[in-house]
Amino acid sequence: MIHEFSHLFSFKLAGGNAIPLWLNEGFAQYVAGQDKKTKEPIYIENNFCEKFGTLRGWDKYVNYSAYTISALFVRFLIKKYSLDKIKELISSLDKVYSYSRFEKIFFEVYQKELSEVEKLFIANLNNK
Ligand SMILES: [Zn+2]
Repeated sequence: MIHEFSHLFSFKLAGGNAIPLWLNEGFAQYVAGQDKKTKEPIYIENNFCEKFGTLRGWDKYVNYSAYTISALFVRFLIKKYSLDKIKELISSLDKVYSYSRFEKIFFEVYQKELSEVEKLFIANLNNK
């Protein structure tokens, strides 16, 4: 229920623009407190944000920890760079989503390459 409400919240925040699937689902999981760390080993592919961004990609990876990884990544972004930054990211999106545009928007908000932040995230998961 909270999960669904947070989709409405991010939809409003995005002003109807296209939210990459990992960000939309990960944020909803985080807000609903469904992002708790799993005891299962996690397998993460390189450039998972690119893979989990589109509907087709999400559909392909949904049974391969896409929810878990997205929720953990959103949690990492919030803890490391603040909730305001992720809100800024969601409110800076385009009408039409494409990964190359998203990378640029991410860089404008975080002043860091998305691929670099993905690597930091994985290193951080392994340090706990
Ligand atoms: Zn959802």
